[in-house]
Amino acid sequence: MTEPKLNLSPSPGDEVKTTTCYMCACRCGIKVWLKDGRIRYIQGNPAHPVNQGVLCAKGSAGIMQHYSPARLSKPLLRVGERGSGEFREIEWDEALQIAIGWLRPIRERNPDELAFFTGRDQSQALTGWWAQQFGTINYAAHGGFCSVNMAAGGLYTLGGSFWEFGEPDWEHTRYLMMWGVAEDHDSNPIKLGLGRLKARGAKIVAVNPVRSGYGAIADEWIGIRPGTDGLFAFALIHELLRADRIDLDYLVRYANAHWLVIRNPGGADDGMFARDAEGQALCWAGGAVRADAIDISPAVVGEYVLPDGRRASPVFHLLAERYLDPQYAPEAVAARCGIPAATIRRIARELAAAAFDSNLELPIAWTDANGRRHETMTGRPVAMHAMRGISAHSNGFHTCRALHVLQLLLGAVDSPGSFRYQPPFPRPIPPANRPGKARRENGSLDAPPLGFVHGPEDLVVDAKGRPRRIDEAYSWAYPLAAHGMMHAVIRNAWAGDPYRIDTLLMFMANMSWNSSMNTAQTIGMLTDRDASGEYRIPHIIYSDAYASEMVAYADLVLPDTTYLERHDCISLLDRPISDADGAADAIRHPVFAPETQAGSDGSPRDVRGFQSVLLELGARLGLPGMVDADGAPVYSDYADYIVNHQRAPGVGLLAGWRGADGSQEGKGPPNPRQLEAYIAHGGFWHAKVPEPARYFKMANRDYLEWSVRMGFIAKADPVVLQIYSETLQKFRLAAQGHGAMQPPEQHRARVAAYFDPLPVWYEPFEGAQAAAADAFPLSAITQRPMFMYHAWGSQNAWLRQIAARNWLYLHPDTAARHGVADGDWVHVDSHHGRITVQARCVANVQPDTVWTWNAIGKRRGAWRLAKDAPEGSNGFLLNHLISDRTQAGDYANADPVTGQAAWFDLRVRIAPAAREAASLPQFPSLPMGKAPGDPLRYGADLREQP
Ligand code: SF4
Repeated sequence: MTEPKLNLSPSPGDEVKTTTCYMCACRCGIKVWLKDGRIRYIQGNPAHPVNQGVLCAKGSAGIMQHYSPARLSKPLLRVGERGSGEFREIEWDEALQIAIGWLRPIRERNPDELAFFTGRDQSQALTGWWAQQFGTINYAAHGGFCSVNMAAGGLYTLGGSFWEFGEPDWEHTRYLMMWGVAEDHDSNPIKLGLGRLKARGAKIVAVNPVRSGYGAIADEWIGIRPGTDGLFAFALIHELLRADRIDLDYLVRYANAHWLVIRNPGGADDGMFARDAEGQALCWAGGAVRADAIDISPAVVGEYVLPDGRRASPVFHLLAERYLDPQYAPEAVAARCGIPAATIRRIARELAAAAFDSNLELPIAWTDANGRRHETMTGRPVAMHAMRGISAHSNGFHTCRALHVLQLLLGAVDSPGSFRYQPPFPRPIPPANRPGKARRENGSLDAPPLGFVHGPEDLVVDAKGRPRRIDEAYSWAYPLAAHGMMHAVIRNAWAGDPYRIDTLLMFMANMSWNSSMNTAQTIGMLTDRDASGEYRIPHIIYSDAYASEMVAYADLVLPDTTYLERHDCISLLDRPISDADGAADAIRHPVFAPETQAGSDGSPRDVRGFQSVLLELGARLGLPGMVDADGAPVYSDYADYIVNHQRAPGVGLLAGWRGADGSQEGKGPPNPRQLEAYIAHGGFWHAKVPEPARYFKMANRDYLEWSVRMGFIAKADPVVLQIYSETLQKFRLAAQGHGAMQPPEQHRARVAAYFDPLPVWYEPFEGAQAAAADAFPLSAITQRPMFMYHAWGSQNAWLRQIAARNWLYLHPDTAARHGVADGDWVHVDSHHGRITVQARCVANVQPDTVWTWNAIGKRRGAWRLAKDAPEGSNGFLLNHLISDRTQAGDYANADPVTGQAAWFDLRVRIAPAAREAASLPQFPSLPMGKAPGDPLRYGADLREQP
């Protein structure tokens, strides 16, 4: 008898295309299998360095993102009132003409009247350049309300940062502390790494008020009170100093622990580094000598008299003075942090034991930046990772710096087993690029609008010290606002403070809903009119792929493509996908031409990638760099720009397959066949860091020279890690009345207080200002679920099946104290507003904190969900409770150093409420259409028939 012929490996489809996922920020490699011209299946790309074949629920549900009923189909021109959702479909040419009609006069009159802000897009290398060429200083992306504290805290301290720019040494770490890490951004790469740690038996400690996601698999959960992470870090530092369990050799070799700080209270040089005539920092080694001298034994404590008679002490001396103070003893901080003193002491002991008693020594010979050869690399296998939980507080910048100081004391930055830089980091401290603020003759800015200030002279303020930007970033109120302050734009534009703008251009930013603090009033600002009857924000242009809440508030809607219909570039000039052992970038390329992908009701779609539209607008406006001498467009579309644009000679958006024949990497002339090379190699490029260059990157000659060759840094100088920040001290001195640029009177005390050159902790503003302990005794925070990413995910037909609504989660003891039972309705009040929602009792939360999932609540009618969709009826936002100003009304609800939105500072009280038909507040339903077919079904006809 013959066996039947079985196909044991049936192909999932008849064609496969390899590109990059866009269902969250991780940017994993994916293979999109097609059958009969439709998506059969999305698979993780096993060859891709980010995910190594792993695909998460979000990535798989990309099918539903591509076929979402909420996709926009055609450019829209508002015909009703703003917010009414009444639009007329128009052709692209008319849409572009309208946009040009608004933008051209602005460009000619005053480019700053255009405010261009983008949400969670991945093309800031283009959008920032476009804003620069247009000449507006009013540009930013969403980092100001997401995690600029972490980026700035890291870049001003380590020349690199957590999150997407560094990673734990998954191979060697024996102890990982995760601080405020959410699962939506740090998805597959972290999961893979955590799996490796679990397999090796390394200890994982999660510090978070809520135990969800990664906290659930941690060996220890520390349910900290929101906003007290810095205090906890200082107590750990206190204990390490007290027990003398610190790596002094490391601190002197790689950080500025021995640099001398001038002690001259009241003087213009107080707190600045002692420097020689060439400006080189000095230390004390029997006398004042250059701090970068080798083969010296510099003092780290004491006070010394410089040859010119001034007194000075090493940074470490100041550090020890501060953190050995009893105010940072475990007993002193335990109650405020909600962590027993014994636990704090034990964690400090465990950190020290993991770092110093492990005897991790890798047999890798390497050469340091001074040319000295080392036969081995000494490890400190303690790693830290942090995210928005520590960042979105008004004390977040200093908390991020506090964590970095803790790492440095343990010798645990880029040593084996610790936190590792991902190329192109580390970079000089502060990074070299400063914010553009002057206009060239051709109307463009002298530098991109976002950059890093080195001192007061870099602020973007007028002669009287008043803000020049609409969001007040880089002003005395928020001097290091390196990502801008998107959360301040709509209020300031509405108020005409510091001036009125003409046009607000936004991309992928749901500002009339979950991306704004103070949502209800923000809606009012978008629709408010002045005395003449005109909208206070005269023109709003918005680009999005989906019928989000923000679409209803635009005058002109430019429909974007889905991520499978576009070219994109995950560039090293923007947010790279490198890992610690290699530099990497990637592309997206169209799996489908958008015109072939009808809407879910069968109607044709006429959509264009926003980046290509932006370049066309630029060409029609004749912007420098976008037209040639004859006025013809330089770039036909975004794909053309990705390949041919050069930011500096030989430096383009993609680092792989450069040069005419594609043989160069890092730097090289454009390669006309570059995109083909990427597609042939799975859509990504990855260059391994040479083995001797993989650790101590801040002082590793091989790495620094490799980094120069790749075009990441200009010179192979070592990056000295800045425990003590002279940049911050420059601002403090200005506030104390020194220097040519000083803050206006109303900002002096604030700048002097918060520009401390060593990390400090202070009560988050909302708690400090709200008489909070009595009136609003609970903290309220949000978490992003592992299965969703921003507002996008919660309209996805498959992901909605995991959760279609949220609840207010509170600890059972807290519920009992308030007379609330599981499922009850509760009023939640802040100093700013009230919501009425349903509660659930859970034990995974610190008892003084309530929490909920973020951005699942939707406005009825938006995203083409059914009228009675749970997201609209029972789902809710905490945003209604969060003010966009401090309670005193004097500043944005933000960190005073970076302007980071402080939405995790929220304080509330709860009280039982009567049963409601729906969560409150509710808003009029938006007439954005409705999904045909409910529930959405997909793929049954693609199954193999037996
Ligand atoms: S982790 Fe993010 S990028 Fe990776 S597959 Fe999941 S959704 Fe896509």
